[in-house]
Amino acid sequence: MAIALLAWRNGMLWLGSDPPDRIGTPSATNVFYVLLAGMQPLFASLGFLLLYNETLQRELHTLARVDPLTGVANRLALGEAAERLLGAGMWRGSLGVLLLDADHFKSVNDRYGHEGGDRVLLELVTCIRRILRADDVVGRIGGEEFVVLSPGTGLRAAFALGERIRAVVERTPLQIDGETMRLTVSVGVAVAAPGERDVAAVLKRADAALYAAKRAGRNRVMSADDADVAEAPAV
Ligand code: GH3
Ligand code: MG
Ligand code: MG
Repeated sequence: MAIALLAWRNGMLWLGSDPPDRIGTPSATNVFYVLLAGMQPLFASLGFLLLYNETLQRELHTLARVDPLTGVANRLALGEAAERLLGAGMWRGSLGVLLLDADHFKSVNDRYGHEGGDRVLLELVTCIRRILRADDVVGRIGGEEFVVLSPGTGLRAAFALGERIRAVVERTPLQIDGETMRLTVSVGVAVAAPGERDVAAVLKRADAALYAAKRAGRNRVMSADDADVAEAPAV
């Protein structure tokens, strides 16, 4: 408004036909103009605060969705990603859901301490991320439990992805406190068919498969129904 007023004053001066009041004249326009001009620093500060607030909000939004230890998505972000991928028809195909749990992780902590265990988790995530495609999403949902969402992936392909992760983790030596250690993971695989929207139901199937993999001896991949694997079309 102050700018508009200034432009108007200058315009009038320029045209010269009907010069406005001198700034010293105590007219209503001048009082208004001086008041507005005096409030400029206030407006500038307010604008700055609003901008800063928006930046903080954005940072908070990101921080609330990142796992602080590993830098991957946390439970909240994973839930949102799953909802997004299952809904809104983003992927016409199916969504592969892999649930991973490190085997015998308690003994890793016992040996290297909790901090050492944290570093192993970080290395594990690095290892997993190297295998994934750009549009796959990995997140940490518990201490040493991770979820991978693989859009456009059918059961056979999801199972193959789980097997690739399992094999790479198994053969990748992890460096910890100058020692080389090996870790294995068990993987439960489930697939949300096209049109299926219930994230919790898919995760429950993956969890049942993970439980079966643990019971079957660990360091293996299992699907909720292994018969499905045999029948699943390659994607
Ligand atoms: P299992 O093969 O059955 O999975 O055996 P496990 O020892 O891995 O057992 P479980 O999955 O039940 O327990 C996970 C352990 O991981 C328990 C806890 O000591 C450890 N843990 C949980 N969260 C963290 C974490 O943030 N950092 C570290 N270093 N350890 C964690
Ligand atoms: Mg666990
Ligand atoms: Mg475990």
